[in-house]
Amino acid sequence: MPTPPDPFFTLGTRLPDRLGRTGTIHTPHGDIQTPAFIAVGTKATVKAVLPESMKDLGAQAVLANAYHLYLQPGPDIVDEAGGFGKFMNWDGPTFTDSGGFQVMSLGVGFKKVLAMEAVGVQSDDVIADGKQRLAHVDDDGVTFKSHLDGSPHRFTPEVSMQIQHQLGADIMFAFDELTTLLNTRGYQEQSVERTQAWAVRCIAEHEKLTAERAHRPYQALFGVVQGAQYEDLRRQAARGLESITGVSGRGFDGYGIGGALEKQNLGTIVRWVNEELPEHKPRHMLGISEPDDMFVAIENGADTFDCVNPSRVARNAAIYHPDGRFNINTARFRRDFTPIDDECDCYTCANYSRAYIHHLFKAKEMLASTLCTIHNERFTVRLVDRIRESIEGGYFDEYKAEMLGRFYGSKRSSTGA
Ligand SMILES: [Zn+2]
Repeated sequence: MPTPPDPFFTLGTRLPDRLGRTGTIHTPHGDIQTPAFIAVGTKATVKAVLPESMKDLGAQAVLANAYHLYLQPGPDIVDEAGGFGKFMNWDGPTFTDSGGFQVMSLGVGFKKVLAMEAVGVQSDDVIADGKQRLAHVDDDGVTFKSHLDGSPHRFTPEVSMQIQHQLGADIMFAFDELTTLLNTRGYQEQSVERTQAWAVRCIAEHEKLTAERAHRPYQALFGVVQGAQYEDLRRQAARGLESITGVSGRGFDGYGIGGALEKQNLGTIVRWVNEELPEHKPRHMLGISEPDDMFVAIENGADTFDCVNPSRVARNAAIYHPDGRFNINTARFRRDFTPIDDECDCYTCANYSRAYIHHLFKAKEMLASTLCTIHNERFTVRLVDRIRESIEGGYFDEYKAEMLGRFYGSKRSSTGA
């Protein structure tokens, strides 16, 4: 039977008076220095970029999505290839999410979780305008229709575990129910209970599969803490998940913090959860990458993050820059032969000008997406690296004030704004 790396997580430097810390996650495919940004490769590719480029820009790990790889090409094919890391030629650490977010959100039509606004009347029947409800949640699992061809499918905690074991990532997530801020308090209570019951089933299935698939390296399992904006539910959810030990007595290897929350509550919610969770297990914040969100999550004890945003916006010509985000598509860059960011050490900034990248977008050339994705991923990875250094060096608050002041506060002429 594959044995877990021991220790799985090593604590580094603590942030004085707060829950923030640095550390190292040890996986069978290498170490992750935390805090770390985990690049998203939804369908076993970081869109438009070679895995070698991701290595070069300092990405430590890649996260793929169980829902997408289940539908296409199918987890059995990924398994036969030796797991999604091997399949995509990425030999470093890997994560998969449980698929729960996609089976529920693609059908129900939520906006992105952190962007959700708590407006309107609370209701447990949240369907976006013009969208047919494609997912149905019951106590046993979720029935949904494929967004590709409308075919019916069902995910349960056991199915999610089976798929994720086949996908072969070093770190997997338990199958949880996703709610929104529009759900009633009563529904949030039920949902936390349901996610807890599903977590027990995930651990049981995970232990069974770990024993059966003895030829594979150990895959770690993270529980996902839900509870929306309610302090008592968040704390209850965190304690509940940590109380599950399974037959082996190991329980969850770490935790994900997910679900409905507003940007202004992010730090508070992360703090509630991390005050309950044990210090020696890593915590992953699902779906954030904006600089202010990352500082707040890190100082409240989150260790890793993932988000599609840096690559998604890059394909729409949006560039992360120390002085704020700007769009390279606008006409003022036609004759700007300087790099996107003259302080950046990425391949794109070392070799290409704003004018050239502007031209590539105008000409609808694929290389535009590649070059901008490399820059935005490097920007995000480097920002988290610097936050880690600032914790180790004892100047976190100074760095936070300087970086955020510049990113959100100023619009210098170098950005053309
Ligand atoms: Zn760059």
